[in-house]
Amino acid sequence: MKIYIKTYGCQMNERDSESAAALLAEAGHTIVYTEEEADAVILNTCSVREQAEIKAIGKLGIMKRLLYEKPHMIFGIMGCMAQSRGEELLQKIPHLDFAVGTDNIHALPEIFEDLAKERAKIRKDARFGADTPGIDAHRVEEADKPYCAFISISRGCNRFCSYCIVPYVRGRERCREADSIVKEAEMLAEKGVVEIMLLGQNVAAYGMGDVLPPIPDDESPFADLLERISAIEGIRRIRFTSPHPAFFNKKLIEMIARLPKVCKNIHLPMQSGSDRILKEMNRPYNSAQYYKIVEDLRSLVPHINFSTDIIVGFPTETEEDFNATHALMHKVGFDNAFIFKYSPRKGTKSSKMTDDVPQAEKERRNQVLLAELEETNKRKNAALVGETFELLVEGPSKRNAERWSGRTDTFKTVVFPKPENIKEGDFIHVKVTSATSMTLYGEVVEK
Ligand code: SF4
Repeated sequence: MKIYIKTYGCQMNERDSESAAALLAEAGHTIVYTEEEADAVILNTCSVREQAEIKAIGKLGIMKRLLYEKPHMIFGIMGCMAQSRGEELLQKIPHLDFAVGTDNIHALPEIFEDLAKERAKIRKDARFGADTPGIDAHRVEEADKPYCAFISISRGCNRFCSYCIVPYVRGRERCREADSIVKEAEMLAEKGVVEIMLLGQNVAAYGMGDVLPPIPDDESPFADLLERISAIEGIRRIRFTSPHPAFFNKKLIEMIARLPKVCKNIHLPMQSGSDRILKEMNRPYNSAQYYKIVEDLRSLVPHINFSTDIIVGFPTETEEDFNATHALMHKVGFDNAFIFKYSPRKGTKSSKMTDDVPQAEKERRNQVLLAELEETNKRKNAALVGETFELLVEGPSKRNAERWSGRTDTFKTVVFPKPENIKEGDFIHVKVTSATSMTLYGEVVEK
């Protein structure tokens, strides 16, 4: 069967789609890249952002037209919307054939086999540990960036931040065995992967079980995992996302500083700079503790940079609360920030609070922070002119195919004129010659 998988939402979903594609290809199906070519379409959905959920349901409606030409067409959903609303959607959308929850991706080949036989409607909902069959399946050769791969190290989350639906739709945290993760990384390295991105809702809590913050300073199974992956020959860069700040301890900070392969760009979701709002969000740290992580890392690795997630307009957020967020953002000097205007997600604790910050005010606060980000980037990028960086080459630049681009270990994009004999996935050295707030430009100084 020809199967098209469309992915909505986060990198975890992208990774799940890759696993699903690998399992289905192994079962003899062909993965295609347009719905027109397909006999079956799977939407890998997301409940975390309301927009992604709306888009996926809308897409299912639009795709019904495909049934006129191909009445045998199969439609399915997978991912966290399937987990949380699968049954409801199966009832509401008559042309939806199956919904498979986040922990049952390995059931897809069986579902297709059953559907091919009897087009039965199937929903599998039982939860397993995180080492579910197929979680380590990859399609390195077919990937857009065959030199780079994602590894899911855990599923679900125990934190219950008051605005977040993840613990309800992806379940409680289940961590994979370290040996299994290391084996997967070794297999990827053998296939030529040089950069690994470790994924989880709260990677810093990996292996800690039910421990509540404040966590001890000398124990971090995640730091141990970083060390083991670092020892793998062929792996040259390790990234991870997302870590909860309350699980950053001394051991993890020192390990990040000590291991050269761990990229020096840390995504550290701040959410708010107001201690009162952080409490309302059920985020067990305050602005001073957050800033201390930044300071501790910078004292060990002066060139390290940070990205973050911020929510503006959380219920009851006053001008003073917002100013505290703005001030902390300015003090840290983030190189990137994903800024979200608060919107309530049904079933979360904060959805019971009055969404009392007007939309126009949320928009204004969003714009203020975006302007802050641009200003910081302009200043920090200008300071990099004249410096030389090692880049992982990513291929032709989006705007001009004559020029190529690559990433520094701090996740900065550098655009350069393409020299002869380089290919995607190579490492080269580039000297920065000019900069904008978004991009650095440079020339190759050494291959
Ligand atoms: S840490 Fe909080 S925001 Fe992140 S997934 Fe868990 S509950 Fe959601």
